[in-house]
Amino acid sequence: MATATGQCASKIRLEIQDLIRQLNSKKATLENLENSCLHEWEEKFTPEYRRGYHMPSDREQGIELGVDSRPAYDVPDRTIDKWTRTCKICGKVQETTYSQDVVHTTKKPSWPGR
Ligand SMILES: [Zn+2]
Repeated sequence: MATATGQCASKIRLEIQDLIRQLNSKKATLENLENSCLHEWEEKFTPEYRRGYHMPSDREQGIELGVDSRPAYDVPDRTIDKWTRTCKICGKVQETTYSQDVVHTTKKPSWPGR
């Protein structure tokens, strides 16, 4: 492998290994910083629109599976509830599509008898 191409490829391989080491080291440093941050979150509702699509049947796609053939179907457009929060201190960004219902209760008087 004494060709110019071989030497060039070997050099690039070594450079890539070094970059991967640097990347992993920086990832670890960032993770430590984020883990030690006392996070001050700024939260936003960032819903995500997903365009619907038509999935052709197996037959339309030229796939013949006999009785197991999958029919065509349509996936409608939909909007996914999503929230994004950004830390005002370290800049960490998190996204979630999980939510919980918040139930607000109010008190009303309860009288003895009718
Ligand atoms: Zn933070």
